[in-house]
Amino acid sequence: MTTYKICLLPGDGIGPEIIAEGVKVLDAVGKKYGMDFEYSEALLGGCAIDECGTALPDETLEAAKASDAVLLAAVGGPKWDTTDPDKPRPEQGLLGIRKGLGLYTNLRPVQIFTSLADASTLKPEVIDGVDMMIVRELTGGLYFGERERFYDEEGAGVDGKSGQRAYDTLEYREYEIDRIARQAFEAARKRRGKVHSVDKANVLETSRMWREIVHRIHDEEYADVELEDILVDNCAMQLINRPADFDVVITENMFGDILSDEAAQISGSLGMLASASLGDGVALYEPSHGSAPDIAGKGIANPLAQILSVQMMLQHSFNMLDAANDIQRAITAVLDKGYRTGDIADASTPSDKIVGCSKMGDLVVENL
Ligand code: NAD
Repeated sequence: MTTYKICLLPGDGIGPEIIAEGVKVLDAVGKKYGMDFEYSEALLGGCAIDECGTALPDETLEAAKASDAVLLAAVGGPKWDTTDPDKPRPEQGLLGIRKGLGLYTNLRPVQIFTSLADASTLKPEVIDGVDMMIVRELTGGLYFGERERFYDEEGAGVDGKSGQRAYDTLEYREYEIDRIARQAFEAARKRRGKVHSVDKANVLETSRMWREIVHRIHDEEYADVELEDILVDNCAMQLINRPADFDVVITENMFGDILSDEAAQISGSLGMLASASLGDGVALYEPSHGSAPDIAGKGIANPLAQILSVQMMLQHSFNMLDAANDIQRAITAVLDKGYRTGDIADASTPSDKIVGCSKMGDLVVENL
């Protein structure tokens, strides 16, 4: 029997509740396909700050590196919110593990489950046919650039006393754009063959370089793929105006962070969207949403994004495409039967059967 080692990072908030459902589904898939999943668990985010004083303890990165794939839930919460640059913050764990594992590509599929069309705030005719893949660069740009906060005269307030100044640096290197562009074009070849490349080339030098490199790679190696440039502000509008026109969207780190949350809303709930972070070694899979501290511990979180992240793991890390399709079918069946967690329920649909987090996991397993 093949054994795969999975490193679990439950994190904070609803993390432990939803990751338990992901494991439930993995175990059921393992049983069905004769695979054995062996789990290790490590601390990341706020819980790691509480235990070890840092959001990414060395042991966590080591455990992740020693695994075949990493399943993360979510990190963060008001307990650890701080504006003090010297205090540890949960997101440092996320950024650190992405950097530590060299995860430069983030894939975020946005799809519509037909029976959830009503959960979207957009009209059904606008979201009809939405099926896009956001390819976000994950280890460069503003989130990893040099930054500083300091006091000096230029930052002075009206009283003339020295005041605060701060800067963040947006920097990209050619190879970082080259490798993410290839990922996007390869993804497009397996899909509908269209890439929208997002930038702000009318203002930013990094964007002008981005555009030039993306076009060079396209013209030399991927001329069969349709390529269109789109400015980030226009993209933000068109994503809700004509979302079905997008196939693959490639973007730098911060634009991708914002646009993927916007695109998530098209599907009706953040609780439905998963993501895969890939590099050249161990990959990491997680829901697109955060730790939802407002509903943590209540047993009402939607575990489907976590379960869909398990599906992406089977697809990308283990090439278990039949098992991945099984999960997709099982989730569709559960939703078609009217089962909903609170976040995707529709008050005007009396046939909706509201279930909690654990029950939703059980239903997916039953329908596998
Ligand atoms: P969030 O995604 O946690 O929550 C936004 C809203 O969506 C909330 O109302 C929440 O209840 C709801 N929601 C999210 N996931 C849900 C689910 N699975 N089921 C049902 N409802 C769900 O975003 P936020 O409130 O901006 O952030 C909360 C914390 O999460 C912050 O500390 C933030 O830094 C952190 N965060 C972490 C990640 C991550 O771990 N990758 C990503 C985003 C935010």
